[in-house]
Amino acid sequence: MTIDVLDLIRKKVSKKKVHLVYEEESFYDEGEKIEFLSPIILDGELHLTGDGIDLDGRVITELSLPCSRCLVNFNHSIDILIHEIFSPNPDNKDEDEIIFVEGDTIDVTDIIKNNILLSLPVKKLCKDDCEGLCQHCGTNLNVANCDCDNEDIDPRLAKLKDLFSAD
Ligand SMILES: [Zn+2]
Ligand SMILES: [Zn+2]
Repeated sequence: MTIDVLDLIRKKVSKKKVHLVYEEESFYDEGEKIEFLSPIILDGELHLTGDGIDLDGRVITELSLPCSRCLVNFNHSIDILIHEIFSPNPDNKDEDEIIFVEGDTIDVTDIIKNNILLSLPVKKLCKDDCEGLCQHCGTNLNVANCDCDNEDIDPRLAKLKDLFSAD
């Protein structure tokens, strides 16, 4: 999704409101499939600063994430603020935080995707007390019990088990 910034680059205007709504299907975060359940909305403003263009905006969408413990997908709302600096000046190209603008438009697709990725929790849990899967038979312990020995371990033995388990 691109934004036309020619009028800013030519300094015809000093700021410009941005309102984008577009659809994406999914992307991968370290092998985990993240799906979009609703369109991505970007609301914000571009403004000229010296020889650059600042973007301040708010990104709203709804994702479906796989739970890190039980692997069942759950909904996760995104409502984040983003701030990016663009420059049409190639001399600024090597500066880390500045995104070089080639031509008359800026492409915000990857920028928004990266901001969403950064906002995701490291451990994605469907609920704080997700019971996860039985390590022996794979049963989702949130919805069913199994006959494995998981729950009835003597607490003292469980402590010992923790000591010897790799993680
Ligand atoms: Zn879960
Ligand atoms: Zn089991």
